[in-house]
Amino acid sequence: MTASECRFPVVHGYAAKAKDQPLVAWEYTPRPLGPNDIEIKIDHCGICGSDLHTIDSGWGPTNYPVIVGHEIIGHVATTGSDVREFKVGDLVGVGAQAFACHQPDCPACSRGRDPQCPHSVSTYNSRYPDGQVSQGGYAEAVRVDHHYAFHLPTQMDPEVMAPLMCAGTTVFTPMMTHGVKKGDRFGVIGIGGLGHLAVQFARALSTEVTAFTTSENKRPDCEKLGAHKVVNIKNEAQVKAARNSLDFLLVSTNSPHTDWNQLTDFMDVQGTIILVAAPEADLVISPFKLLLKALSVSGSLIGGVNDVRHMLEFAAKHNIRPWIERLPMDKCNDGIDRMRSGKIRYRIVLSNPTQK
Ligand SMILES: [Zn+2]
Ligand SMILES: [Zn+2]
Repeated sequence: MTASECRFPVVHGYAAKAKDQPLVAWEYTPRPLGPNDIEIKIDHCGICGSDLHTIDSGWGPTNYPVIVGHEIIGHVATTGSDVREFKVGDLVGVGAQAFACHQPDCPACSRGRDPQCPHSVSTYNSRYPDGQVSQGGYAEAVRVDHHYAFHLPTQMDPEVMAPLMCAGTTVFTPMMTHGVKKGDRFGVIGIGGLGHLAVQFARALSTEVTAFTTSENKRPDCEKLGAHKVVNIKNEAQVKAARNSLDFLLVSTNSPHTDWNQLTDFMDVQGTIILVAAPEADLVISPFKLLLKALSVSGSLIGGVNDVRHMLEFAAKHNIRPWIERLPMDKCNDGIDRMRSGKIRYRIVLSNPTQK
């Protein structure tokens, strides 16, 4: 496949060129389309918290210029010579991963844990084995290994599905890993892009759901999303009443000020705290908080190929719907500002003009 045979030999998008700078129009020449790759014309892309961390170099130095965005919905524009699973025009989604080795001797891929593959490539700000840099979804097109493009259920509006690709997978995968089941007492802290989906998934799994928030004004939303109980963390009486009440607590807040000792207080004996966010600060937990109740603390990063497929099927079956605000792609800086304000209910989805 030569560059001229691809629909987007040059990709136009919006890039961060340095820390603390707004995104600007930018173009790049994508890496050559490999036999297993597909090129996707992007229709929509959600704004994930990871995008902000990357724009800000919050997780370490970012390789600028970077086009962020990994909640991508689009249509297949070109397929590599070995790709049989997709044809031009197929509607697909792409999440936070663009490549893994998928070799039988890989300690991660062989166990279905391809996000932990040593050769994993993130959808943006990452490097392929050939040294080429990956660029994300605030753009007109993207190229990924075809394993990381997913056929989408037809019963949902494509734009609404964008946040499932990262946020949805991120919260659903650990629920499956930990065998969360009917009747479990499941808490979600941080009712935002991730948390509002976690509440819906946990409810659909027939758990008893408690939403923890610092915003009293989110209470009606939490209830509408399916929470049986809502705990305002700033309310001492509510916090006290919630002690020892959970089997699982999914932590989706990126706040560096989260009191982890307080979180352990919410857990019942042998409970599991699942971290899915990546705050820009270390976690501090007193050892006895874990020892006395035999608690586990676990982390989970996005989801593998099979996890994403399972999540999409489950979301369609149980009518899990991201709540979104819509913006045109060229207003991506407004979207980022709104994300920083913390006022989003609960995910922004950027859209390219429909006709090109
Ligand atoms: Zn994300
Ligand atoms: Zn691997």
